[in-house]
Amino acid sequence: MELSDSGLGMFFRAALDIPEIPFGEMLWESAQRFPEKIAVIYQGQKMSFRELDGLVNSFANALSKLGVKKGDRVALFMTNRPEYIIAVYATARLGAVFTPMNPTYKEEEVAHQLQDSDASVLVVQESLYPRVKTIRQRVNKSLKHVVVIGQQAEEGDSLFLDLIRQSSPKHPPQVQISWTEDLVALPYSSGTTGLPKGAMLTHQNLVANAIQFISSGRITEQDSMLICLPFYHIYGVMLVNGALYSGATQVIMEAFDLELSLSLAQQYKVSLYYAVPPILLVLANYPNLSAYDLSHLRYIMVGAAPMAPEVAHRLQEKTHVPIVQGYGLTEASPVTHLNPVDQGQIKLDSVGLSVANQEQKIVDPETGEHEMEPGELGELIVKGPHVMQGYWKAPEETARTIRNGWLYTGDIARIDADGYVYIVDRKKEMIKYKGFSVAPAEVEAVLFQHEAVADCAVIGKPDAESGEIPKALVLLQGGARIEPEALMEFVGSRLAGYKRVREVEFVSNIPKTASGKVLRRVLIEAEREKAEA
Ligand code: ATP
Ligand code: MG
Repeated sequence: MELSDSGLGMFFRAALDIPEIPFGEMLWESAQRFPEKIAVIYQGQKMSFRELDGLVNSFANALSKLGVKKGDRVALFMTNRPEYIIAVYATARLGAVFTPMNPTYKEEEVAHQLQDSDASVLVVQESLYPRVKTIRQRVNKSLKHVVVIGQQAEEGDSLFLDLIRQSSPKHPPQVQISWTEDLVALPYSSGTTGLPKGAMLTHQNLVANAIQFISSGRITEQDSMLICLPFYHIYGVMLVNGALYSGATQVIMEAFDLELSLSLAQQYKVSLYYAVPPILLVLANYPNLSAYDLSHLRYIMVGAAPMAPEVAHRLQEKTHVPIVQGYGLTEASPVTHLNPVDQGQIKLDSVGLSVANQEQKIVDPETGEHEMEPGELGELIVKGPHVMQGYWKAPEETARTIRNGWLYTGDIARIDADGYVYIVDRKKEMIKYKGFSVAPAEVEAVLFQHEAVADCAVIGKPDAESGEIPKALVLLQGGARIEPEALMEFVGSRLAGYKRVREVEFVSNIPKTASGKVLRRVLIEAEREKAEA
């Protein structure tokens, strides 16, 4: 039994044994346990754990020949594909550090992450190669080699396949690794509240979190996981690692596509479907769901951004597949909370229980010290083997975020009597109306209950009298018509007076990050510009 009851009505997860293996060896272990099992399915091609492990060795040996050593950074610039997994584990086996880049990045952003991370090697897919060529001069100091996944590379650069073919599939010489100190990954946060920050993750961090995730999600080698979320984001990193270590098969999509995701789920008898709230939204709104056989799905996991329970309800009624919400952040490798996956224990409006081997507290958001009374709102802080070492090249930011080993999440939350955690919103994004705090996510969740609303975002609009007023940007369902007053009344009748929406604007699009978060700072900036015009 994984869940225990302390007798105080407080559920917790029993402690896990986390083996002290280097991150790169997680795949090696799986290749010993499940050599002929299919590890990866991509565009109809299948690859076993043994084959994958051999390719990882070959690429590790190739990187070593290019001069990659322990501690060096290897940047990955590609959409989801098996080569990404090979590059991640090859880098790790040399004791080097992989830093994944968002494939939608334009030249400036690519240059920034390459410079910031001082990457010495870049692995890039052919279609993104042109973006690298134009900024090459600027990053020449640290960037020594470019490896291209494709058919053509410029003089001096190498082709991924050539490198693999020319290298031995034997395990490269073992490097001495400090489990708790040596870095293996440098993922960047989503940049929702400012510039993306590099999170320094150790071997311990990634091994621990893969095991915390597998255990909380009860994932086994019987499972088949559909991954349509971007690999470069920490949520994707976790899914890949979780699948590899548990022995589950991962069905990879290059990018999310609703109908393709459903037909793959049917074809490969997918048991676990991973989503972010915008994907849940399109699933819930899709009229043709019943055309697909989704009977093998055990649950749909959702996380990375606030989810309106109404949307999850609607989807659950259509599919009868449980929806399991989780929560995490780049700084925690990432998952810190997940609902128990058994039906009857799921609370849709909660992000669930703490993962195993983690301590948690709700503290006064002002002082960051005093613990709040049970049930009261405060800032969520967590501690455990999955918490990053700090932010890359940002000691002050690190000192603000990690204090006495506790990671300050910046999110406002509460814990109920059963130990379930409810995320209210980000501390930074709370709207201050006449001194009262209004959580945008709470107001959005109510707006989603209205049948005319397809999508929405709530922001604080600067206001001379009240400081800020809650303003809703609303995307209507196709064909729907409604007066702003009627929507304001709808919210007003369901929430306390100070949480009322005081302005509504109909829009044709809600800007979001790739991990599904409303880009509120973009909306607020637009509001400010309008006010100044
Ligand atoms: P940045 O730190 O650069 O501003 P970010 O915080 O969006 O970007 P991530 O690490 O990708 O970068 O996201 C973590 C954040 O996502 C959490 O701190 C939290 O605000 C939000 N989040 C994740 N899961 C949930 C969830 N289930 N419900 C509400 N919010 C969530
Ligand atoms: Mg953050």
